[in-house]
Amino acid sequence: MEWQGLGPSPAQDWPGYIGRFAPSPTGMLHAGSLVAALASWLDARTHQGQWRVRMEDVDTPRCVPGTDLAILQQLALCHLVPDGPVLWQSQRGQAYQTALDTLIARGWAYPCGCSRKDIELAQTRSLLRHHAAVYAGTCRSGLGGKTARAWRLNVQAVQAALNLPRITSWHDRRLGWQEQDVLEAVGDFVLRRADGLWAYQLAVVVDDAAQGISHVVRGEDLADNTARQMLLQKALNLPTPQYLHTALVLGANGEKLSKQNGAQALDLQDPLHALRQAASALNLPVRADVTDIDASLAHWTDHWRAQYAPNTPIKA
Ligand code: GLU
Repeated sequence: MEWQGLGPSPAQDWPGYIGRFAPSPTGMLHAGSLVAALASWLDARTHQGQWRVRMEDVDTPRCVPGTDLAILQQLALCHLVPDGPVLWQSQRGQAYQTALDTLIARGWAYPCGCSRKDIELAQTRSLLRHHAAVYAGTCRSGLGGKTARAWRLNVQAVQAALNLPRITSWHDRRLGWQEQDVLEAVGDFVLRRADGLWAYQLAVVVDDAAQGISHVVRGEDLADNTARQMLLQKALNLPTPQYLHTALVLGANGEKLSKQNGAQALDLQDPLHALRQAASALNLPVRADVTDIDASLAHWTDHWRAQYAPNTPIKA
């Protein structure tokens, strides 16, 4: 297919590669989050690029004090050490405010006074009722006497002003061609929440750009956010990274492993064992005769390269 997406072409060569792992310190790393850490690290090494770590601690009430440092220790035990300083999103409020102000000044963000109940009510009245999370755009043309609570992106206004197609499409390095009609799938999404906290979508887009992230490698559960993030990148005139969404680790019940459904923190008495499990989840071969962490990481880097970046030169 001819390349027509909003994102960069799926070429493999990328001289200024900067990747990242962006855990939320709401709990320690578990088997699922180690997969995202390992995959993003392997991709950075494959491209001879840098690997950054960003603590996504914007949702302060859900963050557990001390977990950020504990996660960095867990990573270090696995020999996954960030290149350059760690960025904490809780210290980035000014940058997010500047981005929101830019969107407001362009007429692309509006205050929303809807409560959760109002949103549900509007959905039942409209054709959107089959899409549980879709915002019907109630406050797009004014608050109608309500008090402003959250800020939302006016998706249609951005698409019209920038001449963007209604369907946002991109090439995912693992999933292939992807597309989403953001307005139909989620509607005008939140940039700043009713409780005053910054929304994940805005924070991630501002920080990926600020850190010069060229490649995002993360779990497939986040693939659905990519179109929203691409629209925000366009609206803020920021570059779009390349994306690769890895397969998810499923728990015994067949559900995605997550802190919310009680995934156990990694037992790092034996970091190589944990890394081997993560590598298996990524379809990378585990060699019983390689019993050293660094040698294992090097072995998996070769396999990762063959799978996802076959045109990348191998470091001499
Ligand atoms: N902080 C998010 C999480 O832990 C990851 C965000 C991202 O990689 O874009 O699920």
